[in-house]
Amino acid sequence: MSCWAATMDLTTTPDQELLRAEIRGWLEAHLPWEYGTGLPPRFEDLAEEVAFGRDWQGKLAGAGWVGVTWPEAYGGRGLGPVDNFVVQEELARARAPELVGRIGVNLAGPTLLVHGSKEQKARWLPAILPASQLWCQLFSEPDAGSDLASLRTSARRCEGGWVLEGQKVWTSYAQFADWAICLARSDPDAPKHKGISFFVVDMHADGVVVRPLVQLTGEAEFNAVELNRVFVADDQLIGEEGEGWRVAGSTLSHERGVNPRQLVIHIQHFEELLRIAAANGSFDDTRLRRRLAQAYVEIRLFELQNWRSLSKLEHQREPGPEASASKLYWSEMSQRLHSLAMDVLGPAAPLWRGASDNPGDGSWQRSWLYYRAASIFAGTNEIQRNVIAERVLGLPREPAAAGVARGGSGHAR
Ligand SMILES: Cc1cc2nc3c(=O)[nH]c(=O)nc-3n(C[C@H](O)[C@H](O)[C@H](O)COP(=O)(O)OP(=O)(O)OC[C@H]3O[C@@H](n4cnc5c(N)ncnc54)[C@H](O)[C@@H]3O)c2cc1C
Repeated sequence: MSCWAATMDLTTTPDQELLRAEIRGWLEAHLPWEYGTGLPPRFEDLAEEVAFGRDWQGKLAGAGWVGVTWPEAYGGRGLGPVDNFVVQEELARARAPELVGRIGVNLAGPTLLVHGSKEQKARWLPAILPASQLWCQLFSEPDAGSDLASLRTSARRCEGGWVLEGQKVWTSYAQFADWAICLARSDPDAPKHKGISFFVVDMHADGVVVRPLVQLTGEAEFNAVELNRVFVADDQLIGEEGEGWRVAGSTLSHERGVNPRQLVIHIQHFEELLRIAAANGSFDDTRLRRRLAQAYVEIRLFELQNWRSLSKLEHQREPGPEASASKLYWSEMSQRLHSLAMDVLGPAAPLWRGASDNPGDGSWQRSWLYYRAASIFAGTNEIQRNVIAERVLGLPREPAAAGVARGGSGHAR
């Protein structure tokens, strides 16, 4: 056993328990549905869902429950990773929807906090937590996903700034975003990782064209985004010219390895599935009962993985390659749980919203379809396996791909 394992402490402090009581009390008083029994409204229209999400995030931020790890000067509470874990757990327990401004809160904001100038922080940070401005992430391109450093969107110098030209894809919530964090190649002659710069792009600028793409679920959360000679002023470059890959590395590393929201959601899914299995007789089938037991064990293991990474973060240590193991594990665990759910639903499995005798009224089927994406976003499972093979097991590196594996991008709800 390493000396690290001996230092793990899984007990919460009295202050953390006070924080839990405080947010639970706030949620009981302010949740737009009955705490513990109600559910958030379901929307047919994504724009309506986003409008509801903005309003909800504004209320949460007003009470100080968004970005609790951010410095107080920018609307946060300056709290640590365990406090944040507690807050995220409580929000998920109350079935609060995922933050509509999560790309700003979890990716753009933390990157600006580390790499932004004083003026850039003052300009963009205050509108992020209350969702008065939404952000998206213009990283992936049609030929640059896992191998992100191959990106071809160009940034050419012009008077007072840069002209960006290229094609981005899979950009979540681009159709609602005011700003984007964007990677573009500012020096085509430099080595692959050295010629990239990190920009903030105004999504309302001339030349930005957003085309929604329909997903397996029938919803269109992500988009293709064309950048047709888009002007970006000098003061929208983050970090130094040519340092974009390093800046992006910090964007993708935030809070890797812990996922309190998915942990709580999967516990809730499991408990609901048990109720359905008991009600429709599936529980009497020995094979299904064994698989339910297996699902319970898997969720508990996921919980332990979360705690291990959290314990490292709390001691100012990066979770490291375990973050890849955790992402790989939860995405596969989730897909197995959803397959099991279809078998528990039995004859109701192929039904959709509005059909009779369909427990969950289509939410299980939507969820089954949605979680197919879990093994793609935030770095595909093949890439996570490469990271584990190379950095944990010490196997030889991929000959042509050394250094290109992407850690993350894309967002679980
Ligand atoms: C729901 C969702 C939301 C997203 N939101 C965003 C967003 O907001 N912004 C953004 O920039 N991106 C976003 N993405 C994109 C996401 O980051 C990419 O899809 C992901 O990085 C994979 O890239 P790709 O789709 O180009 O696949 P590719 O990289 O082309 O991979 C295709 C297949 O080849 C495999 N493969 C590739 N390289 C290797 C290798 N070296 N070894 C073994 N196998 C390999 C992959 O695992 C995969 O199975 C989102 C994706 C999804 C699904």
